Amino acid sequence: MTGRPAMGFIDAPANRAAGLRGDKDWLERQLADPESKMIVFVGDRPSISVSTPSLAIDFREPQAVLNLNREVDCVLLHIDDNGRAVFATQLDGRFHDQIVGDDVKLIDLRSLAMQAVLPPADLGALAQARSLLSWHQFHSFCSNCGKKTVCADAGYRRDCPVCERQHFPRVDPVVIMLIQHDDKFLMGRGHNFEENHFSALAGFLEPGETIEAATRRETFEETGIRVGDVSYLVSQPWPFPSTLMIGVIGQALTTNITADPEEIAEARWFSFSEIRQMLANNHPGGTSLPPPMSIAYQMLQSYVSNQPT
Ligand SMILES: [Zn+2]
Repeated sequence: MTGRPAMGFIDAPANRAAGLRGDKDWLERQLADPESKMIVFVGDRPSISVSTPSLAIDFREPQAVLNLNREVDCVLLHIDDNGRAVFATQLDGRFHDQIVGDDVKLIDLRSLAMQAVLPPADLGALAQARSLLSWHQFHSFCSNCGKKTVCADAGYRRDCPVCERQHFPRVDPVVIMLIQHDDKFLMGRGHNFEENHFSALAGFLEPGETIEAATRRETFEETGIRVGDVSYLVSQPWPFPSTLMIGVIGQALTTNITADPEEIAEARWFSFSEIRQMLANNHPGGTSLPPPMSIAYQMLQSYVSNQPT
């Protein structure tokens, strides 16, 4: 890969055609149009064409996919630059052999992002599709009355035909924070991390909590560090299945770490010069960071590269 590494999943095409989603006739015409495109997932892995020099999404005609199974839910992702509707759907494992072949493979979305082998907009569209399709897969029954729900609004709602409750796709916010003290950042090593692998602290927002409060609470729970000012930096959809990573920087009011062994294996302060070595993958102690497609890497890179050495 050349040039500066990029954050994954952030470039989904912007024209999501929200105003057309409720127009059933328009949707039917798009699904019948052989120029429209369908992204196919089998289980949670997208179908990828491997025949060209670089990998590409294996776009199919919507009707060719629906001919395999007319029961599937189709979600509208966007209108592409040529005015074509782009849909996505999910088939179960029974259809594996009808999708996969010598030129087509199912490839895990995380590894596609790690390898940065797809155009950023395609990776963004796959993230949008995976989150939406996962929500449909696990919300086929009404949480109010238990009856089967039906896909509505081009995939952005499910309706219960019995109690008439409407259900909407979820996005789960997570704060991920650079906690700063002078020229150091606080980072932690999760129990599931490899030895010597550190990342920014992170945690789910709880109901009734601001981003700032969640940042302070999570940092204190995991490390005993008190945080004052909190500022927003950047965000990243994380489609496993529907997280939104909200990147912030917080100013530490204290420095003595008391790591909670239930939450993390270890927490440490890292100087900016150490972080530069970790970003360049040449830290003398072998300490490593998450990959360049991650928000943690990009926040550290962006912040530290703007600091005097
Ligand atoms: Zn219901």
